[in-house]
Amino acid sequence: MHVLVLGAGQLARMMSLAGAPLNIRISAFDVVSEKIVHPLTQEILGSGLDTAIEQADVITAEFEHIPHDILHHCEKSGKLLPGAQAIKTGGDRRLEKNILDKSGVKSAKYYVIKTRDDFDHAIRHVGIPMVLKTALGGYDGKGQWRLQTSSDADEIWPEIQNSIDSTENQAVVAEEFVPFDREVSLVGVRDKTGKIVIYSLSENIHTKGVLSLSTSIDDPELQKQAHSMFSAVANTLNYTGVLALEFFDVGGKLLVNEIAPRVHNSGHWTQQGAETCQFENHLRAVCGLPLGSTKLIRPTSMINILGEDTLPEAILETDGCHIHWYGKEKRPGRKMGHINVCAEDYTGLQQTLASLAKVLDEESFPAVHQFTEV
Ligand code: ATP
Ligand code: MG
Repeated sequence: MHVLVLGAGQLARMMSLAGAPLNIRISAFDVVSEKIVHPLTQEILGSGLDTAIEQADVITAEFEHIPHDILHHCEKSGKLLPGAQAIKTGGDRRLEKNILDKSGVKSAKYYVIKTRDDFDHAIRHVGIPMVLKTALGGYDGKGQWRLQTSSDADEIWPEIQNSIDSTENQAVVAEEFVPFDREVSLVGVRDKTGKIVIYSLSENIHTKGVLSLSTSIDDPELQKQAHSMFSAVANTLNYTGVLALEFFDVGGKLLVNEIAPRVHNSGHWTQQGAETCQFENHLRAVCGLPLGSTKLIRPTSMINILGEDTLPEAILETDGCHIHWYGKEKRPGRKMGHINVCAEDYTGLQQTLASLAKVLDEESFPAVHQFTEV
């Protein structure tokens, strides 16, 4: 099998690593250079997009912000999974909210803003405090504003207006501020026949809008809620592949924050913590193969490596730690890799995280520093 991935970042790279044992070969389309590249070496492969589409058995995507003309071009080949509509939905908060409403799952109250009148209406309808997010192009907390009091509206409006005016078809989605207890996400997979399997929920800690730590959690009640919301969304989208749902947990009740039509950063722990990792299961689904077990085999955390290209050797010396570098050039704050940390039980996991806090820099690994030895 040969799979063409739209996007040539770390997610394509990890699909390639997971696909190799199954003889699934990956090539990647770099949307910036518009070249077909090898997902591990970034070496440019001879063929252009048209040849790559022709040679692929299946086409999939590693992120949702793919130019629509390219998505439609790929969809015409009949090989694109998940389909263009699902991918576009993940890249546009208006479509996303629509799908959530259509699926009957709860999310924060919202209002779409194009004009100053809309903004004033949103303040009345959604209430304050409020979170404002660009409909297109947002990731890692970028393209967001917080409105704490209505008297700040005049001050932030020019920036919001500028953002709406500077991109075609742009708008801003105003959302009520959710006073959540914690953030969790569910990664699951739906195959071509509609069969759904899900991983254990993961609890996520963000620092400055960027995911910093994800840990598998064992919470049957929350898992049940998340499962039914996942099924509703995946079925509404008639989805094939791995899909991730991010939630706010408010007193044990889940609200969907956003959906990602792809393998997800909060699912990287499945490489060591689950029977079959999310990357392999995504490939199995889009290639029409039977799905692998998503069973949690041991409690696992994932620590994002942000802006660092070396780690203390102590990490490799620590039992249960696995480093995954992405082979990227160092830039401040950039996702350079991750560390998966496994243990026999949750107490052991907490202890290992506490021991890592002693060797990892506090600024680059803030979430780990909340753990202290028990
Ligand atoms: P991602 O990198 O996950 O794609 P993103 O930039 O698309 O991030 P969101 O996930 O919507 O944006 O928001 C980033 C973070 O901001 C959330 O993880 C959450 O901590 C906070 N946040 C977003 N919306 C709200 C809300 N309505 N109420 C409270 N906090 C929020
Ligand atoms: Mg998010």
